[in-house]
Amino acid sequence: MDPESFRHEAHRLADWIADYLASSSRYPVLANVSPGQVRAQLPAEAPAAGETFDAVFADFERIILPGITHWNHPGFFAYFAITGSGPGILGEFLSAALNQQAMLWRTSPAATELEAVTLRWLQRLIRLPDEFEGVIYDTASISTLHALAAARERAVPQVRERGMAGRSELGMFRVYCSDQTHSSIDKSVILLGLGQSSLRKIPSDDQFRMRTDALRAAIEEDRRSGITPLAVVATIGSTSTTSIDPVDEIATLCAQQRVWLHVDAAYAGVAAMTTEYQHLLTAAATADSLVVNPHKWLFTPFDCSVLYCRHMDVLRSAFSLIPAYLQTNDPSVVKNLMDTGIQLGRRFRALKLWMVMRHFGASGLRERLSEHMRLARLFASWVDESREFERLAPVPFSVVCFRAIAAGGDEGDAINERVVELVNRSGEVFISHTRLNGRFAIRLAIGNLHTTEEHVRRAWTLLNGAVIEASRLH
Ligand code: PLP
Repeated sequence: MDPESFRHEAHRLADWIADYLASSSRYPVLANVSPGQVRAQLPAEAPAAGETFDAVFADFERIILPGITHWNHPGFFAYFAITGSGPGILGEFLSAALNQQAMLWRTSPAATELEAVTLRWLQRLIRLPDEFEGVIYDTASISTLHALAAARERAVPQVRERGMAGRSELGMFRVYCSDQTHSSIDKSVILLGLGQSSLRKIPSDDQFRMRTDALRAAIEEDRRSGITPLAVVATIGSTSTTSIDPVDEIATLCAQQRVWLHVDAAYAGVAAMTTEYQHLLTAAATADSLVVNPHKWLFTPFDCSVLYCRHMDVLRSAFSLIPAYLQTNDPSVVKNLMDTGIQLGRRFRALKLWMVMRHFGASGLRERLSEHMRLARLFASWVDESREFERLAPVPFSVVCFRAIAAGGDEGDAINERVVELVNRSGEVFISHTRLNGRFAIRLAIGNLHTTEEHVRRAWTLLNGAVIEASRLH
């Protein structure tokens, strides 16, 4: 693509994107395609000869766009609602253009240093002490994997050289989390060679918080059986209900037991920058590591996850490996990002985060987070006043779990499933579900920059309509 063609197409795309962002609500929020529909419209072979961008873009609009679920839609209330804000999108654009591969400081001094600066800014905004050092990965799953790899490096003698297989002298290791913890912890123990049976899920209380008494009992019981506690994962903002584990008590226990404490604050950690949650991470300040995802609730386009670790030296000793062709004569003060994890190459993700933080400023970020929490509380108040719905969990942040009172048991679940189906079929909103205490729960998550009170009211109206129809159809 010659420079003039690039200029032309880039301007055209910028116009298209600006229009799209201004009117994302004109699309159905949930992609209205059946499985295989997108694929069936695409040729099985790559084109033999090059094609014009015009032709490619026409197919983008005709084939790809209908298969897009619009996470930018203000009616997106599913999972954790997110937004790729304007400054973040521009950051991605520039980062793609620069095509940085920041494995070594010298392969991208700016990407390496901007990452350190931006993560220090974020760390101070969420009030984590400076002893933590941050690093960006793609997702929280990978951040947590690295945190637990560091915990393993510290707990298992010579694990780097000798691994764990066939070493009967090591005995068994254990990782603890609550029964509400995200499935990424399971995947981490699978990959780290600890096995899923090494993960002990501690029961949570009636507000879905890990029970510290049960955690203590589990650790003590394991020790008596010769099992070595390796790490505890506490969650601030759990996936289903956004519950907050008692991190202060858990941290004290971990310190007594000399066990690595990892805090999963992937979604809710950013709330610590608001006044109402200024103490959210106070107890986590003594943790060994903590993950927070700017791509979840900090308006940064997917993907961008940050791992803060107090012992980056341990993480580096787990992963640093410098083949001859990557050795450099750079001064020893230089940090090479390739040393902080399994991957060699690194995208320039800090650029979009830096642009987001500068565009909004701390006050702008705080305002948006507080507004989302206000909207969630407002929605929860409607649920509480309603005769049709009941709330199933506290609402500490911007997610509400509830269900139609309809009927009990399987019948009630079926009606609630139907309610979600009907509401989502409207194309105006997308709501997801979870299971709480064995019951189907509807889950409304607010996190999109374009979501206003009006959109939340519309969701409520649709839900009330759907509950009547679902009960009638039943
Ligand atoms: N931790 C929590 C609490 C989550 O809710 C999620 C996903 O929603 C994750 C971790 C995994 O996030 P990611 O998709 O960034 O791996």
